[in-house]
Amino acid sequence: MDLYEYQGKQLFKKFGIPVSDGRVATTPAEARAAAEELGGQVVVKAQVLTGGRGKAGGIQLANGPDEAEQKAEQVLGLDIRGHVVKTLWIEKASDITKEYYLSITFDRGAKQPLFMFTTQGGIEIEEVAANNPDALVRLHVDPLEGYQPWIARRLVYSAGVDDPNEQKQIADIIGKLYACFIESDAMLAEINPLIVTPDGEVKALDSKFTVDDSSLYRHADIAEFRDTSAADPLEALAREKGVTYVKLDGSVGILGNGAGLSMSTVDVVVVAGGKPANFCDLGGGGNAQGVVDALEVITADTQVKSIFFNIFGGITRCDEVARGILEALERMQIETPIVVRLDGTNAEEGRRILAEAAPPNLHVEPTMLDAARRAVELAA
Ligand code: GDP
Ligand code: MN
Repeated sequence: MDLYEYQGKQLFKKFGIPVSDGRVATTPAEARAAAEELGGQVVVKAQVLTGGRGKAGGIQLANGPDEAEQKAEQVLGLDIRGHVVKTLWIEKASDITKEYYLSITFDRGAKQPLFMFTTQGGIEIEEVAANNPDALVRLHVDPLEGYQPWIARRLVYSAGVDDPNEQKQIADIIGKLYACFIESDAMLAEINPLIVTPDGEVKALDSKFTVDDSSLYRHADIAEFRDTSAADPLEALAREKGVTYVKLDGSVGILGNGAGLSMSTVDVVVVAGGKPANFCDLGGGGNAQGVVDALEVITADTQVKSIFFNIFGGITRCDEVARGILEALERMQIETPIVVRLDGTNAEEGRRILAEAAPPNLHVEPTMLDAARRAVELAA
């Protein structure tokens, strides 16, 4: 789960990383009020889950409330690479002498957190890595040893920060960022730019923060950050029901058990000349409630004209899935044609159960390709 800048900064603040005072605003009037409260010059910052907002006109300096209101009007509704701005962060403006970059990510290859630090901040880190790789200092942290003060010293000295006052503040921020990263179960915590003000104060001017979805159950405060309005309403419904679902643009609804089979099902529908309406993974089970939940999500999409139910019985038995499908059809009103392909454990019994009950909108096909062709035909 990606956090907005202002949410990441809230976490930074909680862990003692210096950030500027600010307010959230969703209308120009709120932006004006925020600027009045903050006083002086403010920055109007678009809150969207994509970087490079500055270049796209999503970051605007404003001299007081009038200008803040005016800039807010400009920035709200702006489309930044497909993300429409609905929320603003109005922040007390900072004077900048230097822009540094500091991040910590989880390096899956090394199975360790990785710090990156450079004095060439303010621009995209990929650019620094490509054009000036020597300026980028990388350092892994052994998770069993945890954070040690030498890590900050190594980063700061290797990057060539020679002002002792800066060294001290940055080292302190590095330690706090590690704590924030670990305790939030983050996958990424990036500060770009980490600025030095003319007074020599170091602080986080931006935040890019990603938290591991699987850990949200133990971070109620972070889970609350989730912006359900930014998500697709069908995907929100699926999340509510615990269904793994990705909305696509076609007309053939897809339901498989297991992510691999569901992916192949999407492919085979394309091979058969159709367009998948979604990706949906029933997971390991095939009980009636699971099937009802998945079908409810899939049929909530009005573009769906047929449903392809693709099951390979391993631990999940096809007869159980067949009973689950019938029970689901009894419990809910579905007129959309459903094509079923059952293979694997107890497939024959499963097919027999479906053939005996023979609901009018249910079609059983012997192979994946046959079933895909049928589903595509029925969706036409
Ligand atoms: P990004 O473009 O999405 O990464 O957004 P940032 O929050 O990093 O802002 C982009 C740039 O805007 C920064 O690198 C700064 O140069 C500038 N900027 C942001 N906030 C301030 C501020 O308070 N004062 C000044 N002078 N510039 C700012
Ligand atoms: Mn930035």
